[in-house]
Amino acid sequence: MNKEILKNINVLYVEDEQDVREFTSKTISTIVNSVVVAENGKEGLEKFKENPEINLILTDINMPKMGGLEMCAEIRKFNDEVPIVITSAHSDPDFLKKAIDVKVSAYAMKPIDLYHLIESMIKAVEPIFLRKELEAVNLNLANKVEEAVKKTKLILDAQDNMVVLTDLTKAIDVNKKFLEYFNVATLEEFFEKKKSVIDQCKIENGFFNASQVKDTSSWISEILKLNEIDRVVKIENTSGEDRVFVVNIDDYEHKGEHYVVSFTDITELKEKSNLLEYQATHDQLTGLFNRQKFNEIFLKEIKRDKRYDNALSVIIFDIDDFKSFNDQFGHNVGDEVLKIISEIVLKSVREHDTIVRWGGEEFLVLLPQTEIEGAVNVAEKIRTTIENYENIDIPRKITASFGVTKLQKDDDENSVIKKADEALYLAKSKGKNLVVSN
Ligand code: GH3
Ligand code: MG
Ligand code: MG
Repeated sequence: MNKEILKNINVLYVEDEQDVREFTSKTISTIVNSVVVAENGKEGLEKFKENPEINLILTDINMPKMGGLEMCAEIRKFNDEVPIVITSAHSDPDFLKKAIDVKVSAYAMKPIDLYHLIESMIKAVEPIFLRKELEAVNLNLANKVEEAVKKTKLILDAQDNMVVLTDLTKAIDVNKKFLEYFNVATLEEFFEKKKSVIDQCKIENGFFNASQVKDTSSWISEILKLNEIDRVVKIENTSGEDRVFVVNIDDYEHKGEHYVVSFTDITELKEKSNLLEYQATHDQLTGLFNRQKFNEIFLKEIKRDKRYDNALSVIIFDIDDFKSFNDQFGHNVGDEVLKIISEIVLKSVREHDTIVRWGGEEFLVLLPQTEIEGAVNVAEKIRTTIENYENIDIPRKITASFGVTKLQKDDDENSVIKKADEALYLAKSKGKNLVVSN
């Protein structure tokens, strides 16, 4: 018998027989927290009202002024919970019915057997005790969950990235950074004003966007199909500035149901890497492609030419007597000439032709889908434009010599350049300011 649970119980004990009352109350007071004693139902009712800490009623039935069951019926009008233990010699059906009505928890026959009485008290109190304990456990659990949620929120909010928690169809939660970025107070407001996350991504080449998905709700599965380095989006901020984000997607339960999607702002990094890539592939003075980039493009074009017989022509040209020009007017004026020539070439060729600063004062133009005659025409056009170029800052007439060739079936990247070089050499040796083809 678990007497322990009686330790904190405050009992109202109602009994009209003085010696029973005194003996019993004395005994139970050693195992419960406190005992309030009353001589009849009326006094019991009053004492119950006066002592809100009472959490068990132990009462006789037949008493003067007010019987035990009447008292309990009164108490039940305002307290549905307090457990009641009846001590009585009665067991007639009318009594039982009333006892049920007032929700008696247990019953101890008179004459009182103390062991049985205590057992009845425990039986009466136990469900409440257990329920309280369960409530405490639940509350504790609820507090812990709330705490965990708060902690998670804090972690998410402390993130420098925008974070979205989502199932496959819709965002479930977002962090503070996300709300701030879109200038909304809640996720609901975001949906109202902005529709969906993917709708915020700019439709632009090189960036993942809504045009690449069948329906907007499936964008996560679509972006997951891309390589990680291609999971990049561009989203405008509240100041109208485009920012570039790399999208990281974490299937945190590994069930494909819930994802943590984070957007890391890489705008500056991207700009820097664009700049680095630009510097690695372009000539600093003229802004034309450098030799390294040319090699990349050239190999691709040769491959395509071998497959489709693309008529790939090459022009190489070199400024005539440029050394003496530099010697006479200085290196800076020479640099100006190089820039002017790049602009002339840019204006003379088609968009998909490739212009390269091949060396110091040598240039190369790669012309796909161009037969040798066409390439010669282009070279002629450049040659005459240079020859006729007039500018007060350029004190001497500039000319250049051209070698033109076309990729043949047995050519590779080296042999075709060699052939163009040979044609250029011939142009030089024939007196310069000439176009020679082979
Ligand atoms: P040719 O008609 O036979 O081509 O004679 P050239 O003097 O042009 O040829 P050469 O190869 O002897 O000299 C090339 C000159 O081009 C040497 C150099 O001063 C000049 N040059 C090369 N790169 C640059 C550059 O970046 N800036 C300037 N200003 N001059 C350059
Ligand atoms: Mg040269
Ligand atoms: Mg030269």
